[in-house]
Amino acid sequence: MTLPGGSIMGHEFSGEIVAAGRNTDGWKVGQKVAAMPVITCGVCPPCVRGEAYACDKVVTVGLGQSSGAYADFVRVGARDSVLLPDSVSLLEGALIEPLAVGYHAVEMSGLRPGGNVLIIGAGPVGLAVALFSRFVGARHIIVSERSEGRLGMAARMGATDHVNANEDVMAQFRKKTGTVPDIIFECVGVPGMISDCMKMAPRGGKIVVAGVCSKPDTILPLMGIMKEISLQFVLAYRKRDFDLIAGWIATDRIDAQAMVTDTVGFADFPQAFEALRTPSHQCKVMLKPGLV
Ligand SMILES: [Zn+2]
Repeated sequence: MTLPGGSIMGHEFSGEIVAAGRNTDGWKVGQKVAAMPVITCGVCPPCVRGEAYACDKVVTVGLGQSSGAYADFVRVGARDSVLLPDSVSLLEGALIEPLAVGYHAVEMSGLRPGGNVLIIGAGPVGLAVALFSRFVGARHIIVSERSEGRLGMAARMGATDHVNANEDVMAQFRKKTGTVPDIIFECVGVPGMISDCMKMAPRGGKIVVAGVCSKPDTILPLMGIMKEISLQFVLAYRKRDFDLIAGWIATDRIDAQAMVTDTVGFADFPQAFEALRTPSHQCKVMLKPGLV
């Protein structure tokens, strides 16, 4: 996805209310808030269903339309935001968005307690999927990833074990678990990944495509037919997911902070951004205004 020139980015954020406009009952200056990066109309059929991203009149925040949170102030929609209790820090509030992506993927997967999961890729999405797979009681949560640093994070976030992405992933999965995955989460998003997952999937397996690939890709439908594979694509999250996750963080039922590897101020921000062209240890890099 390419943003228009001049866009102010920043779509994973929290902040304090400095001014409240219309339809903001209960909003008070100084309260902490986390917002979905969309401003919605609230009345169209997708809005009524809670599918903010599909709103007929959606305005994105930090994704090319309205300015995002790499700024001193950001405009958010009251119905698209969640007020944060005192026990949720601003840092934790900023992690609700990436966590919600993982939560929605797990919810859409139909994962049940005792299910076995293979997660391809331990970036922020894969890590959030690991966290919520553990949360719902999966038995084996195996992560396939090349970066050593990210494997360490995966273990902290909920993975029960990992496999080497450069070798036969399914052979390793079988060896470590004695079984096959019920659900494979594709969390990389480059061409060829869905096909790779289809090769790995057992008969009747389900693949949840959470990686965002914006290039044309090829699969062999016959492979999916022969194994009766289910392919499930997922997009973002619902407002309800933000409410749930804020509540789980507030009551210490999930540890959001485990995915933060770096915290920088505006002064070091350009440098930190450049470093992400060739990431090493980084997972979530937190921008903290006021930090020198
Ligand atoms: Zn709408």
